Amino acid sequence: MATATTQAEVYSIITSDEQATKLFEYLVSKKKTVISPAFEIVMGYHYPDIMEALKVTSMESVSFAKKLVQMGLASENYREQVVRCPHCNSEYTTVRFHCPFCNSTRLSKDLLVEHLADGIIAPLSNYKKSGSELVCPSCKKKVKEDDLRTMGVWYSCLSCGKQFDTPKNSYLCLSCGKSFSTQELVISFINELKIKPEVLDEFAKRHMLLTPLLNIMSEYGLDAKSPGTIVGASGYGHIFSIVCTNHNGKKYAFDLQLSEKPVDETAVLGMFAKVVDTKPEAAYLIAIPGMVENGKKIASVYKINLIEGNSVQDVIPAIKEIASKIKEIKDN
Ligand SMILES: [Zn+2]
Ligand SMILES: [Zn+2]
Ligand SMILES: [Zn+2]
Repeated sequence: MATATTQAEVYSIITSDEQATKLFEYLVSKKKTVISPAFEIVMGYHYPDIMEALKVTSMESVSFAKKLVQMGLASENYREQVVRCPHCNSEYTTVRFHCPFCNSTRLSKDLLVEHLADGIIAPLSNYKKSGSELVCPSCKKKVKEDDLRTMGVWYSCLSCGKQFDTPKNSYLCLSCGKSFSTQELVISFINELKIKPEVLDEFAKRHMLLTPLLNIMSEYGLDAKSPGTIVGASGYGHIFSIVCTNHNGKKYAFDLQLSEKPVDETAVLGMFAKVVDTKPEAAYLIAIPGMVENGKKIASVYKINLIEGNSVQDVIPAIKEIASKIKEIKDN
């Protein structure tokens, strides 16, 4: 029972946000529970699934991913470190190596290798090549890769001629063109997003239930939205499972409550709180599989119309009747 409550809460969190609802519809249709980041040279890191589902930019896909996590709808798995420019926050950066003496970036790199047979250590470039073969600069014998051991790296500065084993490094932002140091760079992460399969299942189940009801309303020429929002006198936008608007702009609110056992009266009280503020023409609470006795009494006092059934199929005739009434109002 505790999990059922939690899942119902998760469903209302998803449907309280239009973009989250769209994304979950997309994930259900693709049977995806993982949203992976991708890298592209111009866009940088982004989430292709979020971009496709919401028709947003690469940057917006990253900020929406953060929002999903803040809403508690997704967890994160570390995927990659991202170095960002401290000046413009771009991730389009490159590293540059400098001479520690004159700061030039005109460097050549060589390996220092030891000829194991005679212990001579020299830059690899000094092992003169005859064809593809290497020759030791000291003993003049032919050597193979296996006869050599790498001892280190050797850099030569082509500007001042000095040699060193550790160059200085700096970073160049390819977006704004500014340089920055290791001390200045910004490190961030890009994560993969994971949606709990049970959250997606619950969303799919409830969403599939609402779809036939929305279709009926559309067939009757009504403008039905799920989830639907009505802004109340308080200025706060309240979310209903469906909001149906007629020709004159009059709004009808529907909430769907789904439970293992008959739905309890808190669903009536919850809907009443929203109805008081938003004053729809009429409010309907669809309770599957039915409403407890106390809830029925409260609903009649609070003028919330109950639609009960064991399944969505059971409530379809009632929805058709309501839709045709609302349509008649539209025609008048
Ligand atoms: Zn920059
Ligand atoms: Zn040698
Ligand atoms: Zn130099």
